[in-house]
Amino acid sequence: MAAATLLTMIFKSGKPKFSASEAFPLTDASMDFDDSSAVVLQHVRRRVDAGRSGGRRTNAQKWLIALSLVGLYLVAALVFQALGMVQPRTLYVLSGLTVGLSLIFWVAFKSGLHMRAHEKRLKLPIVVSALACMLVVVYLDPAMQILLAPFSFVAIAYGMYRIPRRTAFLVAWALLSGYAVVIALHYMAQQNDALLRLEVLHFVALAVSLPSFIYLVGKVQMLQRILHRASRKIKNIQEDAQRDTLLGCFNRRYIVAALEEQKQLSDETGIPLCLAVIDLDHFKRINDELGHLGGDEVLRGFARVAQENVRAGDIFGRYGGEEFLLIFPATSLLPALNTCERIRAQVEAHPWTGLLKSRVSVSIGVTQYIPGESVLEFFSRSDTAMYMAKEGGRNQVVVQEPVAKGDPSVTVELLGEDPEAQGIEGAEGTVITAVRHGRRLVSEI
Ligand code: GH3
Ligand code: MG
Ligand code: MG
Repeated sequence: MAAATLLTMIFKSGKPKFSASEAFPLTDASMDFDDSSAVVLQHVRRRVDAGRSGGRRTNAQKWLIALSLVGLYLVAALVFQALGMVQPRTLYVLSGLTVGLSLIFWVAFKSGLHMRAHEKRLKLPIVVSALACMLVVVYLDPAMQILLAPFSFVAIAYGMYRIPRRTAFLVAWALLSGYAVVIALHYMAQQNDALLRLEVLHFVALAVSLPSFIYLVGKVQMLQRILHRASRKIKNIQEDAQRDTLLGCFNRRYIVAALEEQKQLSDETGIPLCLAVIDLDHFKRINDELGHLGGDEVLRGFARVAQENVRAGDIFGRYGGEEFLLIFPATSLLPALNTCERIRAQVEAHPWTGLLKSRVSVSIGVTQYIPGESVLEFFSRSDTAMYMAKEGGRNQVVVQEPVAKGDPSVTVELLGEDPEAQGIEGAEGTVITAVRHGRRLVSEI
């Protein structure tokens, strides 16, 4: 009654109170450890950070957003009730409808019923339910129609990223039809001309603004789709920029950046780090026998064998030509050596194409990072070990071990009982251990 009086007062005053609202060539080593590798490094870090933070909204957050929108409507209804414009009965019906519908949607999501729906987020049914509730409330208390326009915009905006534009127009049409029915029911029950004129004015305002709103939100929706497609393309380009176009493994740019990253991580945490340089033996002969395309196929086969034999977390990439790097993060020398030996043995045992008369084998040099050394020094030791494997007769793994010269402790144990492994003095401050032709070391250092 009080609400009707207020509406009549507003209408009669004639003044509307609501306004329409990025390796290093050995000769030129420093080049690849510059800013460009830092760019890739930042990318690696960003990827790790993104993995930590998640990035997607959790179900709880989605529920919180939906319930706070409903909560806002309930608070507004409470204020209306406190002002004496809404009967307590309307609030009870509204609370009952809100709790009942929330339960229905909660059960649908919990039981997995929504997975059968075309649109698994059930946005359309949620928006339609919210609009239907608002119409029921307006029917019960005409004063609540003040909330109809703003909250129907909120409900439609809530569903707009999932509901196709055409469907949104249909929803708006259904809302306006329902509202027209409510207006007719009000008039039939009350024969109140003033209320009828106010409701018709409200209806016209909603009928004009709602389609414009949906049209404009559709434009934002289109922009969002374009941005989404562009970000997917950028992501693919970033992925491609890390990959070797011929072999699909990481490329030089990425592997060098990853080595720099792992060195820094090892410096910060003290965890061990190993690096292997792998080179295919007499690859020129393979190319001469099979042609370059056949040679490419052997490279692909090798990359596959290597990737199948590294452990999760090891980083394998092509350094250039028929040379590869294998980074062993958080790994001490013996497990790294064992992986290298496994790769060497698998390459030797692989059933290569029958046309290939030469034997496919690899020479591998592996070493462990000495805290504080430069990436170039670290790489150079692995590379020297690889060249020692070549000099030693190829198809072997050579370990250049970072121990003080003359200190036999580590080398003696690493050599174990293996008669084919031998200790050779390497560069100053290191001992070279060569593992020849397939002897696998299994003892822990
Ligand atoms: P070594 O055992 O001493 O390493 O001998 P090698 O013949 O493997 O080494 P060398 O460096 O003399 O020759 C490497 C060859 O690898 C020369 C080059 O044409 C070939 N090569 C480099 N990149 C590719 C590639 O992408 N595809 C093919 N098919 N061949 C490549
Ligand atoms: Mg080679
Ligand atoms: Mg080579």
